[in-house]
Amino acid sequence: MSGCADPRGCDDASKHLYEYQHHELDAEAYGRIKEHLRTCDHCQNLYQEEEVIQQRVKACACEAAPEQLRSRVVAWIATFRMTSG
Ligand SMILES: [Zn+2]
Repeated sequence: MSGCADPRGCDDASKHLYEYQHHELDAEAYGRIKEHLRTCDHCQNLYQEEEVIQQRVKACACEAAPEQLRSRVVAWIATFRMTSG
C-alpha cells in the first residue's frame, strides 16, 4: 500500500475497527487504533465508511429487517467504493 508508513498498523486497525467503533477494546488497543486512524488516510476512510453503515442501519432500523437492510447498505457502500476508487 503506497503512502502508508505503517502497513502492520493498517492490518491491526482493520481487524479491530468494529471493536474500536463499539468501544469494545481495552484502553491500550483503543489508543493504538485511534493513533493509527489519525495518521493513516486509508484506515480513516475505512472507519468513516463503517460509520456511514452504522448510521444508516440505525436510521432505518424500524423500517426493514436488519439483515435485508445490512445487505442493501453493503451494496450501497460497494458502489461508493467503486466510484471513489
Ligand atoms: Zn492504516
